[in-house]
Amino acid sequence: MTTITLVQGDITRQSVDAVVNAANSSLLGGGGVDGAVHRRGGPEILADCRRLRASHYGKGLPTGQAVATTAGELDARWVIHTVGPVYSATEDRSNLLASCYRESLRVADELGARTVAFPAVSAGIYGWPMDDAARIAVETVRAARTAVAEVRFVLYDERAYAAFAARVG
Ligand code: ADP
Repeated sequence: MTTITLVQGDITRQSVDAVVNAANSSLLGGGGVDGAVHRRGGPEILADCRRLRASHYGKGLPTGQAVATTAGELDARWVIHTVGPVYSATEDRSNLLASCYRESLRVADELGARTVAFPAVSAGIYGWPMDDAARIAVETVRAARTAVAEVRFVLYDERAYAAFAARVG
């Protein structure tokens, strides 16, 4: 049984086994959560990402997939990088966004992580409407078969927190 908890704050400050990064497919850093993870986690994370690019993901990590690295100096053991879809008003990419949560939890299970912090994947620079992003996140985690004991959604601002709170109830 997975417990869902909600926190308003900075995902890089969470004491959990694994922090999920809203990465881009290059795995080489970006803005938003990605920038914060690399800034606070230090250069070891990027070094691991570069190794992964060279060994497995020459063309980048595909949208909807997830992969783990060290968490560097973060108070977590692992960072799980997942690539959310860019929002489209004309094409339904919900399955790809759901896949980010499913695949991140699958990777967490492989690692043996029991507590996992997620941001609102795709709901920043990638433009996904927050209410819909929250619905997909919560529904997908609720339906997932995982040994993760706690999924903690870490929402940066009040609006995001309210959107998730409305879904979790
Ligand atoms: P994406 O590119 O997948 O849209 P972003 O990182 O731009 O990802 O944004 C995802 C969500 O995370 C947004 O709601 C954004 O406000 C929020 N966010 C940005 N920085 C942090 C942080 N340090 N901790 C938690 N959430 C954050």
